[in-house]
Amino acid sequence: MREIITARELAAGGYRGDTGIKYQPYWWDEAPRDPATADVPKKCDVAIVGSGFTGLSAANTLLDNARNAVVFDKDHPGFGASTRNGGQVGSGNQKFRVRKLIELRGETKAIALLREGTRMLEYIEQLIAKEQINCDFQRCGRFRAAIQPQHYEAMARDMEDLRKFAGVESFMVPRAEQSSEIGADMFFGGSVLPNDASLHPGRYHAGLARRVTEKGGRIVGGAEVIDIVRDGSGFTVKTARGTTRARNVIIATNGYTGALVRELKPRIVPVGSGLIATGEIDAAVVDRLLPKRRVYGNTNRVFSYFRLAPGARRIIWGGRVGRLAAEKSPRAYSHLASDMLRVFPDFAEVPITHAWSGLIGYTYDEIPHLGCTASGIHYALGYCGTGVSRATYFGQKIALRLLGKKDGQTAFDDLSFPAFPAHPIAKQAVPIVETWYRLRDALNQ
Ligand SMILES: Cc1cc2nc3c(=O)[nH]c(=O)nc-3n(C[C@H](O)[C@H](O)[C@H](O)COP(=O)(O)OP(=O)(O)OC[C@H]3O[C@@H](n4cnc5c(N)ncnc54)[C@H](O)[C@@H]3O)c2cc1C
Repeated sequence: MREIITARELAAGGYRGDTGIKYQPYWWDEAPRDPATADVPKKCDVAIVGSGFTGLSAANTLLDNARNAVVFDKDHPGFGASTRNGGQVGSGNQKFRVRKLIELRGETKAIALLREGTRMLEYIEQLIAKEQINCDFQRCGRFRAAIQPQHYEAMARDMEDLRKFAGVESFMVPRAEQSSEIGADMFFGGSVLPNDASLHPGRYHAGLARRVTEKGGRIVGGAEVIDIVRDGSGFTVKTARGTTRARNVIIATNGYTGALVRELKPRIVPVGSGLIATGEIDAAVVDRLLPKRRVYGNTNRVFSYFRLAPGARRIIWGGRVGRLAAEKSPRAYSHLASDMLRVFPDFAEVPITHAWSGLIGYTYDEIPHLGCTASGIHYALGYCGTGVSRATYFGQKIALRLLGKKDGQTAFDDLSFPAFPAHPIAKQAVPIVETWYRLRDALNQ
């Protein structure tokens, strides 16, 4: 049995069997998963399907408003993306350039969406403070590196628009000065969003779950919701561990959405994303390569994202999922080590300790959606890979909306939720589309 595998060895590929890599999220070491095998109650006010940030945030808001909420998950609570993500926390404004959003939605709507995106970041910070969740939330700032010289110019224009239309603060760092931000010379400068943040997703999820149960909510693991039937004044919710009667139902399944609700299935395509964690890196190397300890991304469509783990000198490096991710083998993650070494060759001899993947929920229009189906089932999902703040915010909003509160209104309310034109094909085509984007990224370099 091998004790460790280095980034260089992982990138080279070829290893099979045990390498010392744990094929589970790094975050689970500090926030171990709780099976939460609570009983299924006979009835409740609101049954929530999915126990990630959306489901827990919705439950928390409902409990604060004296409604009794039960959260179901088919696996252990937090099985989905919420405890698998990179812990980079931005506003909800990262998917579109401002000009593109205006072109698609018109100026008034675009501005409303952008301003609300900014509020999402404020909301998660306030919630963490109010609920006293110890999860290393820090306004560390985000550095986004330009892969090509023209990306730098386009980003500069976009940052100016973001300031003008949504009041978002940022500054540009030209290539000549970028060593103050990142010790990698392959980039052409970049932008800094100083108010973006980072957190420990495992501890954030565990803290939110704890608050929900302390307030009297119930979280039931191992309870796949198999059927939801509308009858009379509510719903019969059938789970793998028993049936409950609920006045309302919220679907919070994002990238793990299956065929449970007919209207939602063709509107979400799951896209995989993978991460690796390294062992401890020498302090002097970290100071030179990541002096500001921000969260990092770049301007590629299929992009790499990385950061230091909280309180440690380990890199958490994410990117596209390997074709063989389900295999839990080194070769399923060797591409991530290659991507990392292309940016930071100094990490060649650093051990890789963890490797894992998860599912992002993509929508056709690349905008998250919340609302209610014709049969009265509420939903909030489709964060397209930037969901730490969005899911938290949408969970709260869908709960307020269900309660009929004025505060539940959002700029996202009146957006139509398009289905993918050929959903089964779109699902199959994800690897092809991704390869196409990578090819375009490569040709553009
Ligand atoms: C690898 C990866 C990295 C990411 N990195 C970032 C990042 O750095 N920053 C950022 O902002 N966003 C990131 N995201 C996105 C973010 O994590 C998600 O948008 C967010 O966590 C979604 O939360 P959620 O509660 O809606 O869904 P999830 O956390 O995915 O939870 C959905 C849950 O529904 C359950 N479920 C599904 N069907 C049923 C059923 N029938 N019955 C019961 N339970 C069911 C699943 O088991 C799952 O636990 C990342 C995502 C991934 C996958």
